[in-house]
Amino acid sequence: MDEKKSEQLKDKDGRVIKYIRISVTDRCNFRCRYCVPQHPFEPIPSQDVLRYEDILFTVRSLAETGIDRVRITGGEPLVRKNLPYFLEQLNKIENIKEIALTTNATLLQSQASDIKQAGVRRINISLDSLKPDRYKYVTGGFGIEQTLAGIKKVVELGFAPIKINSVVIKGFNDDEIIDFCEFAATGNLIVRFIEFMPIGNSADWKKENIITGSEIIKIIGEKYNVTPLPKKPDTGPAKNFKLSNGAEVGIITPMSEHFCSTCDKIRLTSDGKIRPCLLSDREVSIADAAKTGNKELLIRRVKESLNMKNTEHTIETDRRGLFRRTMSKIGG
Ligand code: SAM
Ligand code: SF4
Repeated sequence: MDEKKSEQLKDKDGRVIKYIRISVTDRCNFRCRYCVPQHPFEPIPSQDVLRYEDILFTVRSLAETGIDRVRITGGEPLVRKNLPYFLEQLNKIENIKEIALTTNATLLQSQASDIKQAGVRRINISLDSLKPDRYKYVTGGFGIEQTLAGIKKVVELGFAPIKINSVVIKGFNDDEIIDFCEFAATGNLIVRFIEFMPIGNSADWKKENIITGSEIIKIIGEKYNVTPLPKKPDTGPAKNFKLSNGAEVGIITPMSEHFCSTCDKIRLTSDGKIRPCLLSDREVSIADAAKTGNKELLIRRVKESLNMKNTEHTIETDRRGLFRRTMSKIGG
């Protein structure tokens, strides 16, 4: 076994890579309008999906380069069989300090205990509306009750932090910004408002539907006193605020004010592609290296991908980006 520690991963602009988002599946029990295509969805063939062992090998190799934070996403990660087992193995990897999960919460009632047992505490839950009819519309026909029950379950089990991610779409849910601020205060949850991106089901994206972070803060500021919070290492690209009702909210502005210069992240798709930038289709496959347990090749491929990492993304607010993958095939 090669005991030599690999050197730190840096991209061509000198940004040090510390964080990987891993999509364990592109399948999902939802059909969110902005995320998956409404026409028949072609999932990645199962034989092309990395096995848990391959992902664990990848993370073990990357942990030696200084990557110390992992987020598990999808599709819906909880639809993949034996996820708690995988999380438990992930948690055993030396140097990995933080494992987080992004989910639509629908399967948390049955799985949250095992996920906690596996060592995961940080959880992000997507919730774009608090109104049952709108929730049903945006998710492609699913009820909100199970999602709210999932949130209740992780609160009861003591997960922390629990972040609620809400994509704000003008004309759809921008009139719920204050309701979400109240939801955050009463539920002791952090709500993060995310600008709508032209990726996923691009057919549903229009420039006019973007509501920018500064517009969101203006709406919040008309109701509450808003105090900016200092940046913490775990807040990622969000700008966080404490409100006079006690809530903590975050704003994530990939469109109006991008945060590319501080990006320390790469993504791994469920079919084994390293995607160095969310808003670019450039990818490098590590599937063969992971499947054959070839660490040197794997690191070399990841470095190749970092040479392709954009200095900053070029999606402008007046142009629709066209991407080969839907968001559900990337992981958000
Ligand atoms: N199924 C899980 C969930 O919904 O939380 C994880 C995967 S989902 C692709 C990850 C995140 O991407 C979700 O919070 C979702 O709202 C966000 N997302 C999907 N399409 C988006 C878009 N066009 N703009 C902004 N965020 C988007
Ligand atoms: Fe599924 Fe999440 Fe995409 Fe909704 S946002 S379709 S829950 S992957």
